[in-house]
This record gives sequence, structure tokens and C-alpha cells, in this order.
Amino acid sequence: MHQILVIEDDASIRGVLRVLLHTEHYRVVEAETAARAEIEARSHKPDLLLVDLGLPDGDGLKVIQRIRAWSPVPIVVLSARTMEAQKIAALDAGADDYVAKPFSAPELLARVRAALRRSARSSEQPPVLQLGEITVDLARRQTRSGREEMHLTPLEYRVLEALARQAGMIVTPNQLIKEVWGPDRSDDTRNLRVCVKNLRQKLEPNPSRPHFIVTEAGLGYRLRTSESGPQ
Ligand code: CA
Repeated sequence: MHQILVIEDDASIRGVLRVLLHTEHYRVVEAETAARAEIEARSHKPDLLLVDLGLPDGDGLKVIQRIRAWSPVPIVVLSARTMEAQKIAALDAGADDYVAKPFSAPELLARVRAALRRSARSSEQPPVLQLGEITVDLARRQTRSGREEMHLTPLEYRVLEALARQAGMIVTPNQLIKEVWGPDRSDDTRNLRVCVKNLRQKLEPNPSRPHFIVTEAGLGYRLRTSESGPQ
């Protein structure tokens, strides 16, 4: 049974989340302040954190940064739609995904399930991706469409690998650039855009309406595989 730490100062939202998560048989621990959040995270070692960005004693971003410093636990952010800049900062700080408030129950639960799956997979070898007809073996660097072998560049494999490590989750441009091009190239978004465009040309049935490498407006990219679940 997975345990989820809900970090949210609004009692009515906490109540809704508690009921919702209980119906899916998750155990729920609650914290209403940033200070309490870290104490609960350390004592309960939850399997996932749901973090509200606006907390009375500081913002959820600080909570994410502090907890990320010692724990790889999946973190899903809850935030109002108006907080674009905070959302991207939270993702860059190590949050795995976000759900906009007001949230829909099915969407929230889907994000929670995907984040828990990502966590279970993270210790494994780079996966073999199934993208429709196309199979990408990341460990062997082999891509096939049916019997036909396809060519991907080393850079394209690295971008795909970085997305696959977080399959189903949002990965920000900053994270991708840091991983693929290196930490001192953080403003190099053009190369990333070109690389994603080329990957879509090769892997997407309809590159102008991507199904597998999806853009999350203003935030980053999300790799959608059959394994990462329906969105
Ligand atoms: Ca709040």
C-alpha cells in the first residue's frame, strides 16, 4: 500500500484529496506548512509527495528543493493555473509533474499512478520503448520500424533516453539541456528544439501533431509510451 504525503494548507482541499486517495487505497499523511512537510517526509518516508506551491510559511518550491536534496521520492505539484513561472521552477527543482487547480479527480489519480510507476522503474536498465510501430532499444541504440532499421543520431538517443527516464512525466528544457549538452549550456534551447523536431520527424506518424513526444505548453516535454499510461 503506497503512502502519500499531502502538503497543502487549505483544509477543504486536503479533505477532498484525503477522500479521493483513500478510495484508491493509498495511505495519506498530511502537512499544512512547509516546516511540517519536511518533518513528515523524514519520519514517514512516503512513496509520493503532493505539494501545493502556495504555503503560509514559505513556498512549496523550497519544500521541493529541500526534500530533493536527500530523496528521489516522486513529487507531483498542485498549483493554480496562473502560476506558470512557479510551475517551471518547481519542475526544474526536481518535481516530476504537476496538476493544475482546480483539478479533476481522474487526472490527479492518473498523474499519481504514473509518478509511482516512474519511481518503480527508475532503478532498471534503460527501457525498450514501443512507440506505435517503432521500437527503440535505448541500451543497444537500435531503432526499428517493423523489420526496417532506422537511424537516430547519438544526440537524439540521449534526448530520448532523458525523456524515457521520466516517461509520462514532464521534463523541462533546462533539465534536458543539462543532461544532454551539459550544465554550462543552459541557454541553448535552439539545439534542443531542432533535436526534438528531428525525433518527431523520425518517430511520429504525424510529426505536426505529436502523439509520443508531446509539448506541454510553457513547461517542457512529456514522453508518452503505452507503458506510461493513457493521458
Ligand atoms: Ca495554498
